[in-house]
Amino acid sequence: MVDPVCGMRVDPATSKRFLEYKGTTYYFCGPRCLERFTADPESFLAKKKTEATPAKPGVNMLAALPAVPWTLAFPIARWPW
Ligand SMILES: [Zn+2]
Repeated sequence: MVDPVCGMRVDPATSKRFLEYKGTTYYFCGPRCLERFTADPESFLAKKKTEATPAKPGVNMLAALPAVPWTLAFPIARWPW
């Protein structure tokens, strides 16, 4: 298992720091990582997901902005004034 906070390898057989979250058991190298994960589990799980994806979502969103059909997003703009 890998510590989701710092990325360190943790042996589930010897680790006493673990937490079950949404049906998955996460192991931690120490009490500090366990505390940080407990405080905000989603941020660490989301970060792990982002790192696994090569594409940068922020850049893609900016590139897609001009393609957004504003008349569909804001129907009021289509009204004849
Ligand atoms: Zn750690």
